[in-house]
Amino acid sequence: MKNKQILLANRPKGWVSPEDFNLVETELAPLSDGEILVKNLYLSLDPYMRGRMNDSKSYAAKVELGEVMVGATAGEVVESKNPKFQPGEKVTTMLGWQLYGKSNGAGVQKLGNAALPLSVYLGTVGMPGVTAWYGLLEIGKPKADETVVVSAATGAVGSVVGQLAKMKGCRTVGIAGGATKCQYAVGELGYDVCVDYQSATFYKDLVAATPAGVDIYFENVGGSILDAVLTRLNAFARIPLCGLISQYNATEAYGLKNFGLLLTNRVLVQGFIVSEHPEKWPEALSQLGQGVAEGKIKYHETITEGLENAPLAFIGLLKGQNLGKQVVKLA
Ligand code: NDP
Repeated sequence: MKNKQILLANRPKGWVSPEDFNLVETELAPLSDGEILVKNLYLSLDPYMRGRMNDSKSYAAKVELGEVMVGATAGEVVESKNPKFQPGEKVTTMLGWQLYGKSNGAGVQKLGNAALPLSVYLGTVGMPGVTAWYGLLEIGKPKADETVVVSAATGAVGSVVGQLAKMKGCRTVGIAGGATKCQYAVGELGYDVCVDYQSATFYKDLVAATPAGVDIYFENVGGSILDAVLTRLNAFARIPLCGLISQYNATEAYGLKNFGLLLTNRVLVQGFIVSEHPEKWPEALSQLGQGVAEGKIKYHETITEGLENAPLAFIGLLKGQNLGKQVVKLA
């Protein structure tokens, strides 16, 4: 049987380019005892993958040159030499950018009857959803009538943060790139208001959108947007520091001008990595799954067809071309 894989070909300096990836066709070796073969049906594309392309120390291992790009997939067991798995079972795995993957079962999550579309288990009812849930509820600790600002507000994580904060009775302010995303944020995701950071009036609009200041800033982007929001923080505000996507391809780090406001406002800033909190995942996934099934949590996906188009889709994600969760349909 043939497999197709996308390998890391170069370590990008600054922006990622298609030449940093290499599509190869390989033979699938027979399974050994204890192994399963999974046909990947959807591949999740996530901002963290940019960090794994670098040769630098981080919380997780880098991808080596010539290795399959790291990534979560949703798929189906097609062959099993492991008594815990049966062919036909739907699973999520970390098998990466390839059509088929072998596993000894470690880290493979069974989806049971998979009541929702498979791709949703890579987004709202998967890692990004749990990220939103953990950062907002465990770190932000929202109270009714507080103002919650969310950057990358329409993305995989941000779209869930905004909806969960609304359910807690908060005033929700999204920050997103462009009028279309802002319309979606308010019209579909239920944000009270959305501020377009690409607009010349961004700062004025942010001030108008936060008349009572900001109690929680769910941070996904960093850079000048963080600097702007810092000026709106209330005393004892909380910042769940989830991501800094504006910096992932930057060759020079952005220097914050308003850092001192964290001190004068006695702000809690807590960085977190969602995979380090496995004890919270079952509760979060159960609530998110129920919310989606009941139509109380909405989601949108940008679905790219074909493994060969994953590099361009990934570059698009880093440039904000996705709306909602970016996935690649592999079969
Ligand atoms: P998204 O689906 O939100 O996609 C990324 C979005 O980031 C783009 O659509 C774009 O939205 C925005 N963006 C890109 N570049 C910039 C920029 N220069 N300035 C402002 N916004 C930009 O991705 P996710 O929801 O998967 O991830 C969101 C954040 O959460 C990322 O920073 C990611 O690293 C982080 N994360 C952290 C985890 C953790 O455990 N700490 C786990 C998962 C994600 P727009 O067009 O609106 O600008």
